Amino acid sequence: ESVEIGAVALAIVESIRDMIDRDADELGRLDAIAGDGDHGIGMQRGARAGAAAASDAVAAGAGVGTVLSRAGDAWADKAGGTSGALWGAALRAAGERLGDELRPQAADVASAVDAARAAIQGYGKAAVGDKTMVDALVPFAQGLSARVAAGEALAPAWVAAAVDATDAAEATSALLPRLGRARPHMEKSLGTPDPGAISLARAMTVAGRVLAD
Ligand code: ADP
Ligand code: MG
Ligand code: MG
Repeated sequence: ESVEIGAVALAIVESIRDMIDRDADELGRLDAIAGDGDHGIGMQRGARAGAAAASDAVAAGAGVGTVLSRAGDAWADKAGGTSGALWGAALRAAGERLGDELRPQAADVASAVDAARAAIQGYGKAAVGDKTMVDALVPFAQGLSARVAAGEALAPAWVAAAVDATDAAEATSALLPRLGRARPHMEKSLGTPDPGAISLARAMTVAGRVLAD
């Protein structure tokens, strides 16, 4: 049974890889407006390495926590850039919170997502409003936890939280960056959403489709 849930984690990481393969050029163009233009290529290197490591872990019979942790290690190792280190830390934190033994309940998954959020904010020190991926991640994690706490099943709660994250990512257009490489070009960033917030919201959206299947 734990192997089966590891396979769901693999399918999620693969769905993120496929989304990034599709959207890498667009994410790079978004990052080029006020940043250094490498967000698409960095996410692509990270997601491909993460999916390959998750696949190896599932083939070796690993449970969900190990699958996510190995994906995170490979992602951080190969991606480079700020977002790669943060995505790696997030996947590792989620894997450590879930562990391998249990069959996770919706509340366990919401708790793992919150551990990922805490890891990203712990390493990156960004708050909501700084125009980073945190602007999409915090509403996602809060929206998921609140819906699960209210008794909603995991898949619909996740899908609805991903809509919250998408709205929040788009709303970063109106913000000025206070952190990261976009900071020196802050006036150019106005009117354009944060690339890391957009990629995170899209990742949660495609992951929701996997869970809803
Ligand atoms: P780099 O900025 O190193 O070139 P990427 O282009 O891959 O890395 O990622 C840029 C994204 O990383 C930004 O759009 C933002 O969402 C996110 N980011 C940058 N700094 C931070 C931070 N301190 N905390 C959270 N996210 C951050
Ligand atoms: Mg960049
Ligand atoms: Mg860079």
